[in-house]
Amino acid sequence: MASHDQEPQPDRRDRRVVEAAAAVLAAGLTATAAAAALRRALQPLRLAAAAIRAAVDLAARILPDRPPRATGRAQRQDRRDAHKYRAWYLVNAARRIHTAIKTRSRGETVADAVRKALRPESRYLRQHLAAQQNRRRTAIEVDRLAAIYGDRLGWYAVRDGSTTADCRHAHGRDFLLSKPPRIGLPGSVHSRCRCRPGRPWGTRLLT
Ligand SMILES: [Zn+2]
Repeated sequence: MASHDQEPQPDRRDRRVVEAAAAVLAAGLTATAAAAALRRALQPLRLAAAAIRAAVDLAARILPDRPPRATGRAQRQDRRDAHKYRAWYLVNAARRIHTAIKTRSRGETVADAVRKALRPESRYLRQHLAAQQNRRRTAIEVDRLAAIYGDRLGWYAVRDGSTTADCRHAHGRDFLLSKPPRIGLPGSVHSRCRCRPGRPWGTRLLT
């Protein structure tokens, strides 16, 4: 799975919850069934019931996306990962809302605290959706080039003052689509990643 700068990675004990929630998202249930199953999946987080409810409502607000039929390896992997990323987002959102409930001021109701927590949440949601869009675009581009060059592709970074260390390091190296590098694929290393896949350089493999 590609690295990710939008949401902190879930810690070890949350991983099972993320997997359970991702399975619910992948199952293609009706809205009502999905909400009930998602509530059950998030239960082990032991958060305030209102926080779980709000996170499940957020999930329902995200339109089910029907990307075009995945044709290449990168796009198939992206579709598998997309549910996991969304589940991470929802676990993190539930935790943020829970914190807002727990730290609310005296006299503030739980409903007020949830409402207040949901304001910044729409920004996080937009970031999550933008990152997903970015990963999908990357997968399409990588598959397109793999159809031309095969499994081994070159990594091309735009090198200027805002290039990150990871992307700068990857530039000029090759990578295998069948065994993507630790930092992910070119174009989705971080939210402003301008890297592109291209003709293989014939240099060392990036692992
Ligand atoms: Zn990059």
